[in-house]
Amino acid sequence: MNILVVEDEIGLAEAVGAILRGEGYQVDLAHDGEVGLQYALTGDYDCILLDIMLPKMNGLDVLSYLRVKEIETPVVLLTARSETEDKIKGLDCGADDYLTKPFSMGELLARIRAMTRRKTVAPDINPHYGDVTLDLKKGEITCGVSSVALGRKEFQMMEMLLSQAGQIVTKEQFVTKIWGSNDESEYNNVEVYISFLRKKLSTLHSSVQIKTRRGIGYCLDGAK
Ligand code: CA
Repeated sequence: MNILVVEDEIGLAEAVGAILRGEGYQVDLAHDGEVGLQYALTGDYDCILLDIMLPKMNGLDVLSYLRVKEIETPVVLLTARSETEDKIKGLDCGADDYLTKPFSMGELLARIRAMTRRKTVAPDINPHYGDVTLDLKKGEITCGVSSVALGRKEFQMMEMLLSQAGQIVTKEQFVTKIWGSNDESEYNNVEVYISFLRKKLSTLHSSVQIKTRRGIGYCLDGAK
């Protein structure tokens, strides 16, 4: 498993590198955005840890460029507490997750495990509900002749909603399965991704909706 760490705080980058290597990962370090981008463009990584504030090219620009170039390596953004705006922007432009500094190494390892966990789904059965089908191979949802691509987390959430179609998926289930943690502070992430999914369903003019069951979770509704 190869991991790229793009972080200009050299002490932090090296500490993270040492811990990941200790866990058996192959690690490359880059200390500015340009070098990070060059490494990332090789597509040789299973996961990229990407700082936002970086010399030469910031992390969000690196991320956007990668996604334009169709490099779909999972990216975990490393953000300072003050960068909430950037965090939302980052999720919007294709990050899969983020960690707020300072983070514990345990938390980091849990995220990486969640990110690199292989999916165990039968490849040829695309789950569907109402007029919506999830294309497992393409990572898209389709409705009639239209389709829209999903980010990695959106995809995982849609998959969970579809697998229990009509039943409630709790925030806790999302957080445990997708973020690999059981921390209530992740519940905001769930809300952010649900809002992305709702936007995409409405782009498709689907009759399927994601209903909120306040205080509990979410479920699909609107199948005819
Ligand atoms: Ca930085």
